[in-house]
Amino acid sequence: MATVLGMALRTPDDYRASLRDGRTLFYRGQKVDDIYAHPELRVAVDHAAIDYEVAEDPAHRDLAVWKDPESGEDCSAYYKVPRSTEDLLNRSKLIETCTGLGGTMVTLIKEIGSDGLFALLRTVQGESLEKVQAFYERCRGGDLAVAVAQTDVKGDRSLSPHQQPDPDTYVHVVDRNDEGIVVRGAKCHTSISANADEIIVFPTRAMGADDADFAVAFAVPANAPGLSMYISSYGSGEPDEWAFPLSAKHKMLETLTVFDDVFVPWDRVFVCREPELAGPLALTFVEYHRFTAVSYKLPLVDLLVGAAAEIAQMNGVTKAGHIREKLTQLVIYAETVRALTHMAAIRAKVDERTGIAYPDPMTTNMAKYTFATRYHEALEYVQDIAGGLLVTGPGADDWSSDEVRPVLEKYFVGKAPAAERLRMINLISDLTTRDFGGYHAVLAVHAEGSIEAEKMQILRSYDAGPATTYARRLVDLD
Ligand SMILES: Cc1cc2nc3c(=O)[nH]c(=O)nc-3n(C[C@H](O)[C@H](O)[C@H](O)COP(=O)(O)OP(=O)(O)OC[C@H]3O[C@@H](n4cnc5c(N)ncnc54)[C@H](O)[C@@H]3O)c2cc1C
Repeated sequence: MATVLGMALRTPDDYRASLRDGRTLFYRGQKVDDIYAHPELRVAVDHAAIDYEVAEDPAHRDLAVWKDPESGEDCSAYYKVPRSTEDLLNRSKLIETCTGLGGTMVTLIKEIGSDGLFALLRTVQGESLEKVQAFYERCRGGDLAVAVAQTDVKGDRSLSPHQQPDPDTYVHVVDRNDEGIVVRGAKCHTSISANADEIIVFPTRAMGADDADFAVAFAVPANAPGLSMYISSYGSGEPDEWAFPLSAKHKMLETLTVFDDVFVPWDRVFVCREPELAGPLALTFVEYHRFTAVSYKLPLVDLLVGAAAEIAQMNGVTKAGHIREKLTQLVIYAETVRALTHMAAIRAKVDERTGIAYPDPMTTNMAKYTFATRYHEALEYVQDIAGGLLVTGPGADDWSSDEVRPVLEKYFVGKAPAAERLRMINLISDLTTRDFGGYHAVLAVHAEGSIEAEKMQILRSYDAGPATTYARRLVDLD
């Protein structure tokens, strides 16, 4: 029987057990009946369970648990609807904390779903809002893990959804009756869907009247009949913690998420054939989700600074001018991302109609843009300081060999003993050069939207009025 932790809080084991529900998963060409029984996939489940562990941990409980005034229940703070700057700062801190515990990998199982719920609560009205509120209560009260499938596979990017040779490249409505709708098509890159309880589906872009069938938003349980999830094998995981100190324990799963005539009852349909809502919903979700993104980037940028400083010390190069310059650049990078993230919350706006707060879109996008566009430069600095051993070093088998280890201890000594120096090298190598490093690098550029999408939002959100008025006034044009 499930352990009762709080009225609306599940334990990590409740969460793990909930995933054994007959969902249709494929991994490396094989059907997977039980995600937690799979040796590679269970790493992702254990990693995600951090979002539940923090509620049990006295060190984090104040941040992770929220007493809902309406129900009087203790529930996950992820589901606290933000009303102020303080709420957004606490949310950011919670996301940063869980990602820090997750070795720079975001846990995401409550972060992205709550981003999606906040967007729905702000965007839809009337009967749809009542359905969203009921679904929100289900997620909050059940302490559920919730994915968001927004990005469609998209086919030819120059064509709108209805122009695609195959309409299934965007998820769309193919039938409807008194009971609900039937949807078909596929989303991709869907994070944590394989180990979530529920999946919220959003349109990926603004749509016109011709695209009405594609303007659909709904929620389905992960075991819905007709839903199949094909888990990416990227970063399949290395069980060796010596050589892969981060990725051996921390992993996120993405899926190609295929809806093969999935039936969705009306009480789970939030938007149906309403193209005018597609753009606002997509954008409102992204407003929250990019704030989540920059919050979960903070442990990563801190680690780039910390690991670079440590390996510089261990290599004996801290006094070199160019090393100090690179460390300075890394500090500027990390602290600029942090300052912009906090500023996005400080500049929060409150939606007049709903009273729900949201981070300032321009500042959030500047934080995300700064992070994404300077990430590869930051990697260059860290790798430059660390040296080539990042890709030529020994493996765990060498280190555990009685014959080889003394040779490694003698020749890989720096200013610090080889045992310490190699651990730090392996940390940087895992973070920046191997599968996990490659994953982080693409995550930096694409996840939560491409760099161009961020730039568009920055220009769109900027109020140019005061600046142009000032320019005109200085040359007496007004
Ligand atoms: C690790 C990871 C996790 C993710 N998790 C999720 C998730 O949980 N849920 C979810 O919904 N999505 C998720 N995403 C998807 C993410 O939001 C997309 O990767 C991003 O929006 C880019 O889309 P794309 O990958 O299809 O690339 P594309 O859209 O193909 O973009 C590639 C390039 O083409 C450009 N481009 C695309 N279309 C046009 C056009 N019409 N005109 C001009 N230029 C264009 C883009 O600007 C970019 O430079 C995730 C992505 C990653 C990498």
